[in-house]
Amino acid sequence: MSVEEIKNELFYKPEHICKAAEERIVALADEFAEGYKQFLDNAKTEREATKVILEEAIKNGFSEFDSSKKYNAGDKVCFVNRNKSIILAVIGKKSLKEGVKIAAAHIDSPRLDLKPNPLYESDELALFKTHYYGGIKKYQWVAIPLALHGVIIKADGTKVDVKIGEEAGEPKFVISDILPHLGAEQGKRTLSEGIAGEELNVIVGSRPFKSDEGSELVKLNVLKLLNEKYGVKEADFLSAELEVVPAFKADDIGFDRGLIGSYGHDDRVCAYPAAMAAFSVDAPDYTAITVLTDKEETGSDGNTGLQSDYMKNFIAYLAKAEGLEVYQVLSKSECLSADVNSAYDPTFNSVFEKNNTSYLNKGVVITKYTGARGKSGTSDTSAEYMGKIRRMLDEDNVIWQIGELGKVDAGGGGTVAKYIANLDVDVVDLGVPVLSMHAPYEVISKLDLYMAFKAFSKFFKQ
Ligand code: MN
Ligand code: MN
Repeated sequence: MSVEEIKNELFYKPEHICKAAEERIVALADEFAEGYKQFLDNAKTEREATKVILEEAIKNGFSEFDSSKKYNAGDKVCFVNRNKSIILAVIGKKSLKEGVKIAAAHIDSPRLDLKPNPLYESDELALFKTHYYGGIKKYQWVAIPLALHGVIIKADGTKVDVKIGEEAGEPKFVISDILPHLGAEQGKRTLSEGIAGEELNVIVGSRPFKSDEGSELVKLNVLKLLNEKYGVKEADFLSAELEVVPAFKADDIGFDRGLIGSYGHDDRVCAYPAAMAAFSVDAPDYTAITVLTDKEETGSDGNTGLQSDYMKNFIAYLAKAEGLEVYQVLSKSECLSADVNSAYDPTFNSVFEKNNTSYLNKGVVITKYTGARGKSGTSDTSAEYMGKIRRMLDEDNVIWQIGELGKVDAGGGGTVAKYIANLDVDVVDLGVPVLSMHAPYEVISKLDLYMAFKAFSKFFKQ
């Protein structure tokens, strides 16, 4: 054996998927990416993602879960939690006492939420006050086209769906920034203070109601327009969830079209392939559960986040139908916490440790632990479970790589993995590397996305 051959045999060296996989994988990945781009454009919020996935689930033979029913192998059910998270389950051939397979991704993304009383007028402009949701770099949200999505519950209890700024011909919204000519003082602020939270004010109108004399006529005009379109009054904002998101569409990036730029890859880039894997599985050995959850970006608190019991309760209903306690099921269960990791960025390489970071186009990234400051706040996956997942992926030629979120003490982050681990389930993070994570426009690789689909499919079918 030559030295090169011995190296190839003994070294761990993740490769570009174009080198590591068969050629046909590229065409399959490109095709898969087309459906994903549509999903990105149609599902920018957790509510929209829940709705789109529910519709797809029904088309794919899923029925709404009935907790009083006992289900059989091959039955497909879905459960919607408060319009903001959804569980898909394909009942397996084995008893639930052997455990279930869970893929857990999140469908909320960083954004700007409207404050409860958002509308005001200042110097003949109408604006919305916002409170940002999740970890954002605030300066990235000014001077870009924005859209408004969400729901308003009116005084009489009726619900109005709002989505404006997405279709051609619809108006968009924007947050202003200081022109560079007058930006000397702002330039002295640190980057994180460059735009303050209370400066994230969205311009929503500029013309007064009629030409009458009086105050707040631009605000009045905006309310008149909202009243005509949606039948709402100012007080109805108090019972609304309105989210400001980038008005961009998903697009291919690069001359070779290998990447996709879009808002909300974190974590639709895992939610979409996990759901597609759930739709492609029929009567698996183990019951396959896909949970697409809300509130991950703010710490998984709240009744639609994975710190709540909703997923456990769903599994408890399935367990009860078999005469089991939920803990008997959970302790035998396995989970892929399907979330993204940071992709190595050659321009900002100083925050990464090259041997333990994930790269675009090198496959799904397994993140053994997240957290910060000496592995605090993490579920550190056992060697045994890592070994099992490695073997599973290699068996099906799923290209994968290992990754940590940046250098030690450079920062850190978390996922839902630790909340699932707390349920006594074996869990590891597996997802797709993302460039410019949490920016209004993030970037992923089509090949990595396809490997995520292959990974979830294999996990459910093994
Ligand atoms: Mn995430
Ligand atoms: Mn995130």
